[in-house]
Amino acid sequence: MSKVEKEKLMQLADWIKESRNIVVFTGAGISTESGIPDFRSPGGIWSRFDPNELTYQNFVANPASRRKFWEFYRENWKESSGAQPNSAHRAVAALERQGKLTAVITQNIDRLHQAAGNSPAKVLELHGTMWEVRCLSCNYYYPWKEIYNLLEEGKEVGNCHQCGGLLKPATVSFGQSLPAETLREAQRCSMDCDLFICIGSSLVVYPAAQLPETAKNSGAKLVIINRERTPLDGIADLNIRGEAGEIMTGLLELLEVSPE
Ligand code: NAD
Repeated sequence: MSKVEKEKLMQLADWIKESRNIVVFTGAGISTESGIPDFRSPGGIWSRFDPNELTYQNFVANPASRRKFWEFYRENWKESSGAQPNSAHRAVAALERQGKLTAVITQNIDRLHQAAGNSPAKVLELHGTMWEVRCLSCNYYYPWKEIYNLLEEGKEVGNCHQCGGLLKPATVSFGQSLPAETLREAQRCSMDCDLFICIGSSLVVYPAAQLPETAKNSGAKLVIINRERTPLDGIADLNIRGEAGEIMTGLLELLEVSPE
């Protein structure tokens, strides 16, 4: 880490010490060091599937799209099922143990924040979870493994046993509304916090990317930790460029907080 980045980290550590109400906002970049690729990693599953094709409207409209979706999720499940939280997830959990964290607002569908030790009630999953399958008509939930096993056997995913509705992974796809209650809670937390820290998000997917702006406009300090530039860097109080794991580990050291 360069001297400049270290100085920025010291500034962030001071803000965390002063703060009473922190919101952490995460994207796919916090999970790449756990082996789950983000949208843009070369060679990752996203380079074999076009996210623009995997829309909610296509899913409900025709069986061929649904087959593509299931193929995508079969690979996703296979790739992500052994993934473990990394040092950045563990550092976010450590902030909660310090009693400073109001919420972790995540765009991720991998549940690694909960696996790292954040309380499920504090994790607001804006884009749902890949670890459940839901009936779009009656809301009945199915374990992902049941559907995964069907796909591995080369079988088609049938309709809901309860009502005959369409089954879909409990994620929010492009063109699908975010869970209203979760979004409202995320907006409330963003308006009320005094420090809003983004980790590993390109900040281009809306409405999630509106939340850092909401926090900033409501008076919070905005910090962006990311490998590359984001469109919101210009309004941030601090931009720290680099790998989430290394940065968050360095931060805990400065705060003299144990990661476990
Ligand atoms: P994104 O792929 O658009 O952006 C990820 C950002 O993280 C990039 O700017 C990249 O430079 C940065 N990054 C990657 N690895 C990093 C690291 N180790 N340290 C620091 N920065 C790193 O992801 P997004 O902003 O979350 O938005 C895209 C959508 O993709 C979201 O809706 C999300 O639901 C979905 N998604 C989720 C997962 C997951 O659950 N793990 C994985 C892929 C995509």
